[in-house]
Amino acid sequence: MSIPLLDLRAQYAPLKEEILKVISEVCDSQHFILGPKVEQLEQEIAAYCRSTAAVGVTSGSDALIVALMAEGIKAGDEVITTPFTFFATVGAIARVGATPVFVDIDPVTFNLDPAKLEAAVTERTRAVIPVHLFGQMADMDPIMAVAREHNLVVIEDACQAIGAEYRGRRAGSIGDYGAFSFFPSKNLGCFGDGGAVTCNTRERADLLKILRNHGQSRTYIHDYVGGNFRLDALQAAILSVKLRELDNWSAARQRNAAEYHQMFAAAGLDGKVVTPAEASYPVRHIYNQYCIRVKNGRRDALREHLLSKGIGCAIYYPLSLHLQNCFAYLGGRPGDFPVSEAATSEVLALPIYGESTTDQRACVVDAIAKFLA
Ligand SMILES: *Cc1c(COP(=O)(O)O)cnc(C)c1O
Repeated sequence: MSIPLLDLRAQYAPLKEEILKVISEVCDSQHFILGPKVEQLEQEIAAYCRSTAAVGVTSGSDALIVALMAEGIKAGDEVITTPFTFFATVGAIARVGATPVFVDIDPVTFNLDPAKLEAAVTERTRAVIPVHLFGQMADMDPIMAVAREHNLVVIEDACQAIGAEYRGRRAGSIGDYGAFSFFPSKNLGCFGDGGAVTCNTRERADLLKILRNHGQSRTYIHDYVGGNFRLDALQAAILSVKLRELDNWSAARQRNAAEYHQMFAAAGLDGKVVTPAEASYPVRHIYNQYCIRVKNGRRDALREHLLSKGIGCAIYYPLSLHLQNCFAYLGGRPGDFPVSEAATSEVLALPIYGESTTDQRACVVDAIAKFLA
């Protein structure tokens, strides 16, 4: 049995007619950049995320960059985040010229450890970017408390967490901004690149809209140097159709995760595999990824084995960001962030997408149990 890590064709099939119809509408209108389809999506995303406003942008990476730009964060400023995230979180900080400062993660949630946050704050710190990794939200209350105490802007990296909740509040509605990605493999994916920024005031939304369009407040009148971060109408139209199904897809991922939990418990892999746990605080985990931890240094061998049997799996992420060549100037050393470094050597993401089947999960767990026996 060949089991892909992600197969989006099954998700597309029942929506195909509706999606082709809206694509055709956009083509007939020949209105491709921003416009009514993007405005409609922005309203829908703001409502879905229970946030004041949302602004459509070109990608999750650009969502982070434009939020940092809106706060005027620049060279000499420090921005705190974790070293265990997709590159773009830290890349965005460097792109605006600011200095990334890392704080280690919590070993259960893989998210920024709030107990270690305050020690990283200096008089140069301007912002903190908590990442809601794999679809589970960071412990936002203590993070917000430290941020408010030190007057820091909070940008939630919610690229993997649309619809995730923390104590009943949605990702992107707690901080000053939320950055979302519609990359195809996210829970809500478009047919190319796309993203959105949520924010908690109208003023912030207005400024984001100016910045995403080269800082033009009126045509050819530039009050700021922004960029071309505009979402296009085709992606927005597709996303509006898909957004209606998002809760069903996330619920299916939760059911699949619960099945994996039971299957792993029954397989007797104690001490060999740690399944992903939900946080001690109340969450709605949307399982963008289901990442097990493989103990005893066997992760890479297990990965090779699964791939050789046609079972899709992947490592998110293999190298803690403080050890990346491009961040060598920050002076990071092995051992600086031990929880993050341990995660990079143990995590393995398994197929979790909504349409994957119980038989496939049984096959995955069986292959893992036999290999680690
Ligand atoms: C996907 C992702 C991004 C970047 O989003 P793109 O749309 O690919 O630019 C940023 N941060 C995290 C945590 C992500 O998973």
